[in-house]
Amino acid sequence: MYASLVVNVEAPGIKQPLTYRVPEELDELTVGDCVVVPFGRQEAIGYVMSREDAPPEGLDPGVIKPIKAKVLGDGASLPKAVLQTAQWMAREYFCDLATAVRSVIPDSQAAHLIRRVQLVPGWEEKLPEVTTASHRLVIETLAGCPSEAATLEELAELVASRVDSPVKLLRERNLLRDIWTVEPPRTGAKRVKAARLLVVWDDAEDAAKAREAKAPAQAKLLRALSSAGGGPLPVSKLIAEAGVSAAALKKLEADELISIEVLTERRRPYSLSTSAVVAPELMPEQKIALEEIKKRLDSRAHNVALLYGVTGSGKTEVYLRAIAETRRRGRTALVLVPEIALTAQVVDSFRSRIGDRVAVLHSNLSLGERRDEWQRIARGEADVVVGARSAIFCPLPNVGLIVVDEEHESSYKQDQPAPRYHAREVAIARARATGATVILGSATPSVETFYKAEKGEYGFLPLRERALSRPLPSVEIVDLREGFKKNQPALFAQPLLEGITERLEKHEQTILFLNRRGFSMFLLCRDCGYTTRCPDCEVSLTYHQRAAKLVCHHCNYERPAPDMCPNCNGNRLRPFGIGTEKIEEEIKKAFPTARVIRMDRDTTQEKNAHMKMLRQFRAGEADILIGTQMVAKGLDFAGVTLVGVISADTALNLPDFRASERAFQLLTQVAGRAGRGRKPGHVVVQSFNPEHESITAAAEHDYELFYKREIVFREELGYPPFARLANIIATDEDERLPEVRLRALANRLEDCDGLKVLGPAPCPLSRLKGKYRWHLLLKCTDGEALRTYLRRGLLSLTSSDRSGMTIDLDPMSLL
Ligand SMILES: [Zn+2]
Ligand SMILES: [Zn+2]
Repeated sequence: MYASLVVNVEAPGIKQPLTYRVPEELDELTVGDCVVVPFGRQEAIGYVMSREDAPPEGLDPGVIKPIKAKVLGDGASLPKAVLQTAQWMAREYFCDLATAVRSVIPDSQAAHLIRRVQLVPGWEEKLPEVTTASHRLVIETLAGCPSEAATLEELAELVASRVDSPVKLLRERNLLRDIWTVEPPRTGAKRVKAARLLVVWDDAEDAAKAREAKAPAQAKLLRALSSAGGGPLPVSKLIAEAGVSAAALKKLEADELISIEVLTERRRPYSLSTSAVVAPELMPEQKIALEEIKKRLDSRAHNVALLYGVTGSGKTEVYLRAIAETRRRGRTALVLVPEIALTAQVVDSFRSRIGDRVAVLHSNLSLGERRDEWQRIARGEADVVVGARSAIFCPLPNVGLIVVDEEHESSYKQDQPAPRYHAREVAIARARATGATVILGSATPSVETFYKAEKGEYGFLPLRERALSRPLPSVEIVDLREGFKKNQPALFAQPLLEGITERLEKHEQTILFLNRRGFSMFLLCRDCGYTTRCPDCEVSLTYHQRAAKLVCHHCNYERPAPDMCPNCNGNRLRPFGIGTEKIEEEIKKAFPTARVIRMDRDTTQEKNAHMKMLRQFRAGEADILIGTQMVAKGLDFAGVTLVGVISADTALNLPDFRASERAFQLLTQVAGRAGRGRKPGHVVVQSFNPEHESITAAAEHDYELFYKREIVFREELGYPPFARLANIIATDEDERLPEVRLRALANRLEDCDGLKVLGPAPCPLSRLKGKYRWHLLLKCTDGEALRTYLRRGLLSLTSSDRSGMTIDLDPMSLL
C-alpha cells in the first residue's frame, strides 16, 4: 500500500506530492493524517493526500521509503473540510498543492512536535533476552513512565546516563519504537478551581428566586454563573466579583446546583467576563434577516448571503443570534473579523453572550497560546471560533455557519506568500465542504459582493434602519478650487479652520486625516480639478517628473505631460501631493497653542509608539491628531467631534481601477470617527473634485448611490465583477528582464479567445527592495478559461523566464 503525501519542507526543486510506502501497522492511515517521514537525511512532517494501491508508473517500488509513524495529538491531522479547501485553493489561485496545503498548517505545528521512544506492546515477552544491565534499566524505566514512553532527554535524566546507544540497539531489536505527538509547550499551565452550573438556565433562575430572601449570596452566584453561559468560571474571580463568601459556593455545591472542579487554566489573553448581558430586542429588519438565516441553516445546504447593514443597524446582534441558532442545531460557527478589529472588547462581547465555548485566533497570540486554542478547537471544546484571516483553516468540526464581518476589508486578502487567497472566497469554499451558511456582513460591501446579491446569486439581507438614536455625523464638502480662484491657495479652507478654532474653544478634539497611499504623483488642475486619465483603462495617469511624461500603470499608455490643462486651458495643471509633516507645520502656525500629535510611518517607528499616541489622544492629552490610514479604522474616540479630510483627491487618483471604491470606503470610515461620543460629529472633506460620486455618496452616507454609478463604470470597462483579473508581476535586479519576460508571456497569450491583455507596464511601485517590477494584467469573463490560458502560457516559457514571477488571481491591489 502507498500514500501520496505533501511534505512540510521548503524544497522548491521537488515536485510534490511524494509517494511513500504505508507499513502494515499504519494501515489505518486516512486522508488528512499527519505522519513523520524520512526526507533526505532528515525527518519531516507530511500529510496524507490520498491512498494508492500501486506506486505511480515508472517509480521502482524498491526505492519508495516507508512512512515512519503517525503523529498523535489533538489537531495534528487536517480535517477533511480543511483539506478540501486547500485543494480548492490550489486550483483557484494557481499554486501547487504543496504550497496550498502548507499554508493551512499552523506555524505552531512543527514547533511543537515532540518525539518519544515507547516500549513496543509485548515487550515483556522479549525481556528475558535482554541481558545487558543498561538496556534493562532503560526498559524498566520506560515501563514506569506514562504510556511507557519518554523523550530521550527525560530518559537520560531518569537513568542518569546517556541513552543513545541502548535506545538504538533496542529499537533495532524491536523493543522500542518512536512516537511523535504535537503538544503545546508545557510551561505556564496553571491549575485553578472553577465552578460550573449543573442545571439549565430556567432551573437556575427558579433556584435563585427561591434563595433571594434567605440566601441572597447564593442567588447572586447562580445568576452570575448562568449569565456567563453556565461557566466554568474561576472560583476566586467569581467570589471576588459577586462579593460573597466561599461558604455560599460550598452550599450550592452541596445542593448539587453547581460543581467545583480543578481545571488546567489555558494561557489566554482575555479575561473571563462575568458581567451579565441582556440580549436587546430585535428590530423588524433584524427579525426578518434572522428568520431567513434560520431557513438557510435548516437547509443544511451550502449558501451565501450578504447582510447589508448601515452603521449602527445591529449586524453584530444578528451574528450572535445566528450563532445561537447554529449551536441549537448542533453545529459550530466560525467568525472572521479583520485583524485590526479583533480587540479584547469584541472578543469579550462574544464571550459574555456565548460563554466559555469561544476560541480566539489571531496573530497577537503567542505560539503557545495559539497552539492551546487550536487543540481546544480540535478536541471539540469550542463551538465558536473568532479569528482573523487564517482562522478559516482551523480544525473546527461540523461547521454550520461562517460569518465574514466587514467583508470588504482588504486585510482578508493574503498578498504574500502564495497562495494569494481572499479569505472571503476561501470561507465560501470551506462552507461548501460541510454544507454551511455564509453571512457576509458590511455597511459598504465590495462591489463584487453587492453585485452578486443584487443578481440573486447571494441572498440579500438588508438592515437599513439604525437602532441607535445617535445621528450620523454631518458631512460638509469644501471645494478647494475656490481658494485658487480667489488667488488665496491654502492647505486648509475656511470651514475647516473655523471648525478647528471652535473645537479648541470648546475643548473638543479634532482628527485631521491624510491619505498617503496616493504616493504616486498625478497632475491636478488647481482651477478646474481635472486629472489626467488613461483613455482605455480610466485609471489615473502617473506623472514621471524627470521624463515629463504621463504613464498608465495598467496598460503602459504614455504621453508627454501637457503644459496647459486640456479641460480649462488654465496653467495650473501641476503635480499633487502633501505630507503629514507639512500639515503639522501649517497647523502649528495657524494654532500655536494647540497640542498636536502626528501619527505616520515616521513617528511610529518605535515599538508601541502607535498605541502610546492613541492612548494619549484618548486621554485628552492632545487637541489635534494628524494621521494617515492608521487612524481611519475602528478607533473609538468619544472626544472627537470634528474630522477633517485634508484632500480626498489622493485616494481618488490611485493608479488602480478600484480607486473610487477605496475612496468611498475610506471616506465613510473616516467620517465614522466623528461623534462617537454623546456630542454630534462633523466632517469636513476638502477636494478639487467635490462633485465626484465617491465623495458625494459618502457625504450622504449612501452606499447604494455610490454602487449604482460604480457598477456602470465597471461594466463599461470590463472590470470585476464583469471579468476575472490575473495580475502577473515580474521582478528582477536587472532593469530590463521583467519587461522582456512579461512581453514573452504576452506574446503567447495573443490569440486567446476572450482574453484581454493589458501591458506589460511598470508597476506603480516600480522599484521595491532593490528590484524592478513590471506587471501584466489579464482580463477574461470566464475564470476557468483564464486559468487554462495562463497555465498554457506559463508552461511555454523557460523556467528562467518564469522565475521571479508571481501570479495574483483576483488581485485586490494593483500597486
Ligand atoms: Zn483645468
Ligand atoms: Zn491604460
